[in-house]
Amino acid sequence: MSDAAISIRHLSKTYAGGKQALDDVSFDVERGLIFGLLGPNGAGKSTLINILAGLVNKTSGHASIWGFDINENPRNAKASIGIVPQEIMFDPFFTPRQTLDLQAGLYGVPKTKRQTDALLRAVHLEDKAEAYSRTLSGGMKRRLLIAKAMVHSPPVIILDEPTAGVDIELRQQLWEYVTELNKGGVTVVLTTHYLEEAEQLCDRIAIINHGKLIANEPTRDLIGMAQEKVVVVTLEHAGTPPDSGCFEKVEVLEGNRIAITYRKDKANAGEVLRAVSEAGLNIIDVSTREADLEDVFLNLTRAEAA
Ligand code: ADP
Repeated sequence: MSDAAISIRHLSKTYAGGKQALDDVSFDVERGLIFGLLGPNGAGKSTLINILAGLVNKTSGHASIWGFDINENPRNAKASIGIVPQEIMFDPFFTPRQTLDLQAGLYGVPKTKRQTDALLRAVHLEDKAEAYSRTLSGGMKRRLLIAKAMVHSPPVIILDEPTAGVDIELRQQLWEYVTELNKGGVTVVLTTHYLEEAEQLCDRIAIINHGKLIANEPTRDLIGMAQEKVVVVTLEHAGTPPDSGCFEKVEVLEGNRIAITYRKDKANAGEVLRAVSEAGLNIIDVSTREADLEDVFLNLTRAEAA
């Protein structure tokens, strides 16, 4: 039995029409993490989540949640995970309290063990407890979805693109709540297109592309994998240095500022600046831009396509 929160081994999925959505994917999500699952549209993220949720049958491989194999022990596997779907689906005539009570009933949580009030408080919906769901704002509905995924107190929660189309303020609130859940011991897996968000929130990030796992690293290391760096140089007089072995690309930004891209496996900032000076250009200011996840993501997915 694996002691990982989620363990995935050689997981493959080919849909009935012949589309292979997952191709031999293996990875573990360690307990206690906020784990990011990133990938472009059509990469296979939803397929993976739907297999864990028991909504899609895998073609081959194994998956377990909190040590419970999804095929051999589906009840325990299901009880160990809460899934916050992308789509907002509620009966518009139920109130948040009824929605949570109903969900708790579906999961067989006895009335004495239900924490409806605590959950409503946690997602700041206690004053909307008796309002019809259809009268809630988009943000309130998202929060209710999270509460709904938590009714059976699962140790693992998966959020599928939870902030797609959500405004910045609300996104911030959702992340605060997710961070609180994690501090309370819940392992969190989230899929997102917002790389910056994944970078800020996730301890570890896996990237999937065309159904294959192409990276699975601590966030810090993944950022370090970006090879391209940029140094922006302000010159005393406008000018462009001639080609040098250590430049990948030179762009004139405006007037006398130029951005030089270099690969950190081939050169360092000192060599780049020396090449500029040796071309007879006087440098009066310098700044560098750190690579972010966007760079890594583009590099990795480009390498994969090549
Ligand atoms: P993501 O969530 O990363 O956008 P998906 O898992 O939704 O990716 O899709 C992966 C691939 O599988 C896509 O090419 C998609 O068109 C295909 N796919 C998804 N669901 C089905 C389905 N029910 N039947 C056939 N193909 C599907």
